[in-house]
Amino acid sequence: MSGRGGDRDALGRPFAAHSRTASPAPAEGRAPARAVPAPARTDGTAPAGDRAPARAEATGPSAATPDIDDFTRPWWEAAAEGRLLVRRCGACGRAHHYPREFCPYCWSEEVGWEQASGRATLYTWSVVHRNDLLPFRARTPYTAAVVDLAEGPRMMTEIVGCAEEDLRIGMELEAAFREEGGAVVVPVFAPVRAVTAPPRRRG
Ligand SMILES: [Zn+2]
Repeated sequence: MSGRGGDRDALGRPFAAHSRTASPAPAEGRAPARAVPAPARTDGTAPAGDRAPARAEATGPSAATPDIDDFTRPWWEAAAEGRLLVRRCGACGRAHHYPREFCPYCWSEEVGWEQASGRATLYTWSVVHRNDLLPFRARTPYTAAVVDLAEGPRMMTEIVGCAEEDLRIGMELEAAFREEGGAVVVPVFAPVRAVTAPPRRRG
């Protein structure tokens, strides 16, 4: 999952291989660290990220919004309704994610959509403290994670509503749904207690 252009985000889409966005102001006059030097420009203009970061951070389609096609549209439409879908094979009975038009276990094309419970357990995670790619830059630190859905498939996602020190392998999670730009809703996961805990009463 590393190497040139090999990094992928929670939605399985590749991160940019390099960033032209501006680094935060360095503390105490030190030069800002860059993982990859910004590419030299020959037209004399400033990189777009240095020129108009405010416009790029406006709501709307961004690196955090998915490319939706006819096949995956039902999945995103369900997410917009607060429902998580998986694909299940009618031949071997196994569920899978990400959605495919054939079963990755037995190659049957007898595969259809099924509403998942939204329950999962935490398999692994990584707290991201630095990401120059918009809109993630404004979200750091955030927790990129892989969860095991109750239905079986493993899913890349983000954990919300949980401090880093409270994250535990195997902890019980429940799907939450977050609006992204462009009227897209993205499933994320939160600890069960954060989703289902009843509101506290005063007095
Ligand atoms: Zn199958």
